[in-house]
Amino acid sequence: MPPHLRAAWRRTLAVLAGLLGAAVLVGLAIGQVGWVLAITALGVLAWHYWRLRRVLLGLTARRRWEPARGSGAWNELDHLLHRNQVEIRARKRRLLDMLRAYRAAAAALPDAVVVVDRNTQRTIWFNRAATDLLGLRHPHDLGAPVVERLQPLPLARWLVAGRNAEPMLDAPSPVDERMRLNLRLIPYSEDYWLLVARDVSKLLRLEQMRRDFVANVSHELRTPLTVVHGYLDMLDPADFPPWQPMLAEMQKQSQRMTRLVEDLLALSRLESRDSLPEEPVAMAPMLATLRREAEAYSQGRHAIEVHDHAGCDLLGSTQELHSAFSNLVTNAVRYTPADGRVEVDFARTPDGGAVLSVRDSGYGIPEAHIPRLTERFYRVSSSRTRESGGTGLGLSIVKHVLGLHQARLSIESTVGQGSVFACHFGPERVQARQEDPLALPATEHVAR
Ligand code: ADP
Repeated sequence: MPPHLRAAWRRTLAVLAGLLGAAVLVGLAIGQVGWVLAITALGVLAWHYWRLRRVLLGLTARRRWEPARGSGAWNELDHLLHRNQVEIRARKRRLLDMLRAYRAAAAALPDAVVVVDRNTQRTIWFNRAATDLLGLRHPHDLGAPVVERLQPLPLARWLVAGRNAEPMLDAPSPVDERMRLNLRLIPYSEDYWLLVARDVSKLLRLEQMRRDFVANVSHELRTPLTVVHGYLDMLDPADFPPWQPMLAEMQKQSQRMTRLVEDLLALSRLESRDSLPEEPVAMAPMLATLRREAEAYSQGRHAIEVHDHAGCDLLGSTQELHSAFSNLVTNAVRYTPADGRVEVDFARTPDGGAVLSVRDSGYGIPEAHIPRLTERFYRVSSSRTRESGGTGLGLSIVKHVLGLHQARLSIESTVGQGSVFACHFGPERVQARQEDPLALPATEHVAR
């Protein structure tokens, strides 16, 4: 017990003892010790009950507790209750201030924020931006069902996915469909979700401008390049011996520029599309073409192997898939030193999908570079890449083509041992193989 409490107790007991002592003296004086003692004890008991009642009333009435005056045990209790009350009130005020500050911050956010009840899928709270971006009105839409209120946004299936809901990158706003929104669902507690919407119209417009710019520049460069290339082709280096190295270099660079422009145009074309034609892609002739291309590119310097274990076809765009696979195969040849091996393998996956992998025994890629390989113009070693005549756009094209087929590119590589680039297709992209007289046998092995 703290010393001041102990002192209060002692004082209370001393007062009781004093009272009882006085009662005995008065009793002795009037010859009625028993009665006087009993009356005094009853008086003390009544006073204690009165103090107890005061405490109970004070606690139930939730009134402001008066600071205690005096020094007995009851006054000490009053003092403690007063101190607790002051502390609780201060803490409450601090919490309320914090809550108000958080609400004010959330209310002032430029992004729309809507708190949604997970079970009922009704709005609990939303900020000012939710009115501008999503059309929610205060207080009318508090407690409104989100899916119904935010139509035509396709939220029903999205909300069911909950934690696994992928962000919606480009959705029209219910207020004005020219306004494009990026929507995210953040399940921040068991009972509540946060729906965050950001206006990305400007960003998408800039992105479109960038795409148009690249497409236009590439398109405009095409004609002058064709002319320069044509004239350079007409000049035979053998006719101008002193100019021979310069002419050869000019021809090489003009070819490289033409390839760059073609790749940029291909990329712009892919970026501007949401989907590709869905036709059967005959894989047997595709694999035969890839083999021929690899052999032509390698010119006998590598062992080329093509395995067809899948025995199925794909659904998608033959032309675009060929460009993607061909990019992987030429990269494998290009980044594998002479005497190396390049292996193309088409197989089924356990989930019913299919995978086309291109394995080489080449230089390999340091792990740190792998996540960035599909960025435009990203190169692991610029000197080796430029020497090899690459444009730095090949893997970007592959990624875009696969994206349009809901497929995925995986890259595994060990420096000095080689790399595996694999295109994974889902079961919905797999088709029974069409009979084709030109088909490859199940496994074709073409050695050097
Ligand atoms: P590039 O036209 O320069 O080959 P890509 O986009 O096709 O451009 O490839 C990007 C980079 O990835 C290349 O510059 C190269 O460094 C690396 N790369 C691609 N394929 C391979 C491979 N099979 N082995 C080693 N490195 C590779």
